[in-house]
Amino acid sequence: MLPKSLVLALGLILAAPLAHAADAPFAKQEAVASQLRDTALKGSGAYDILESLTTEIGARPAGSTALLRAADWGAARMKALGYDKVTVESFKVPGWKRGAETAEVTAPFPQKLVITALGGSVATPAAGLSAPVVLFKRYDDLLAQAPGSLTGKIVVVTERIIRAQDGAGYGAGYRIRGAGASEAAKRGAVGYMLRSLGTDSHRVPHTGTMAYDPAAPKIPAAALSNPDADLLEHMLARGVPITVKMLLTPTFGPELEARTVVGEITGREAPQEVVLIGGHLDSWDLGTGAIDDGAGVAITMAAGKLILDQPLRPRRTVRVVLWGAEEIGKAGEAFAKVHGPEVANHVLASESDFGAGPVLKIGLPKTKGGEGFAEALMRVLGPAGVVYDRQDAVSGGADVEEMAELGMPVASLRQNGLDYFDWHHTPDDTLDKVKANELDQNVAVWSALAWMAADSAASFRAPAK
Ligand SMILES: [Zn+2]
Repeated sequence: MLPKSLVLALGLILAAPLAHAADAPFAKQEAVASQLRDTALKGSGAYDILESLTTEIGARPAGSTALLRAADWGAARMKALGYDKVTVESFKVPGWKRGAETAEVTAPFPQKLVITALGGSVATPAAGLSAPVVLFKRYDDLLAQAPGSLTGKIVVVTERIIRAQDGAGYGAGYRIRGAGASEAAKRGAVGYMLRSLGTDSHRVPHTGTMAYDPAAPKIPAAALSNPDADLLEHMLARGVPITVKMLLTPTFGPELEARTVVGEITGREAPQEVVLIGGHLDSWDLGTGAIDDGAGVAITMAAGKLILDQPLRPRRTVRVVLWGAEEIGKAGEAFAKVHGPEVANHVLASESDFGAGPVLKIGLPKTKGGEGFAEALMRVLGPAGVVYDRQDAVSGGADVEEMAELGMPVASLRQNGLDYFDWHHTPDDTLDKVKANELDQNVAVWSALAWMAADSAASFRAPAK
């Protein structure tokens, strides 16, 4: 028998680590977040939401009536899921609409080509545009040409983008689509085509936005399917002049309406403080917008639903935002116009907009009064296959950029996007590309992060100097 005092002392020593764990920073939040993770991994409901959006609405470009139907769908769905408050914010977008889009080699090897107009492109003459082709395998080779040296030509750039988990290939190639038409026009070109910014080998072109430099004439711009870019390379390797005819008939009308939907889970103690998550409701017009960005919409709506299912609301408010015009870069601006004045109340934000692949890495802004937050979060998310990236240059996504510039802290949730650019912005962006269990993993991560940030008092703003 040990003396009673020694037993008590041993008992205290043995109990100490446990008592410490319960008092550890964020222990309460960690416990709930672990439950949210486990519930999500068993089946989060995100796939059903995505199936509904792609089946009942389909393609929903900003400014279309389909986007307005999608906003009605989002608001109704959020109310049905039990969100405390649902609001719809309306704003204006340019009235660009896709028309016909065809191209063919007319000489010396007549063949059809598969193209799609870039968003914002002007039309060709109604009878089409016929011109000799000048092809550059590297975009920098186009930029090296003298002004006037490409007069009367259709410029084709066939630079390939690399397949990369983090989308680095797309990032590097972005300027070829965004700025290429004006660069070609400055050198005298009358038309512009690029090899699609895609990693697939399907005869399916990838659309996306472009912008005209006011200093250059506006020329029609399209993306070629990747096999058609190959085809033009093969023809030109024969050293003979190639003539292509392209026809694009997009139209510019008056400004149109777009809508962003905001669903709120009202905080129980500090409702004015907001944790912001979401995806974008608009999509390109070619597919059904399953991966871009129905997935982000479904992931974050489902994450909110799991939080709503908790017996208590989190301390702070969680807002799930379905932005209505990401693809043409208009939703973040409109959102900041409404919510910019309350930016100081925004605790942390991020947008899910990189498809449906699992989250691999998380990057967080520096915390104040949040020491131990990342460690606690990683105890929850490590088992779900996520690592903490201390080097991450945090960025929250296109639709939170304007608010981030005003000082809203943002987090990065980096997904595996190895296949994303096989389907991105194409008719192939459809539901069959999405795996339900990978959506569930995303929901586990988003619900855990949102809960921990919203239920705690951590600040993610850089400490004042
Ligand atoms: Zn997107």
